Amino acid sequence: MEPTDPGTPATCWNCKRAIERQDKYCRHCGKGQGSTVSWYYTHPGIIVMTLFGLGPFSLGLVWKSPVISREAKIAYTVLILGFTWFVGLSIYKAYQGINALLTGGLGVYGLQ
Ligand SMILES: [Zn+2]
Repeated sequence: MEPTDPGTPATCWNCKRAIERQDKYCRHCGKGQGSTVSWYYTHPGIIVMTLFGLGPFSLGLVWKSPVISREAKIAYTVLILGFTWFVGLSIYKAYQGINALLTGGLGVYGLQ
């Protein structure tokens, strides 16, 4: 028998079932463990998914990730919400600018 860590038994971060400490993938749900965790649960993965894919929906990945600390999750949440607000405001201002341009700035309010 291999000497194993006598501490807490290893469990899968995703399905919480018991696995062997040396398992690279969960034998129940197939999720990668330790260094084999999917790329989109890592720090660069979260940033790429937020900027180029999911936007605020990447918060789901942030909070499910087994490799990001609780403090970092809170920081990501603040950053992602701030980023979403900034993008939303930019789109709204661009829409207002285009609208004012097309209507001469008055038409939309019925003031011609
Ligand atoms: Zn599992």
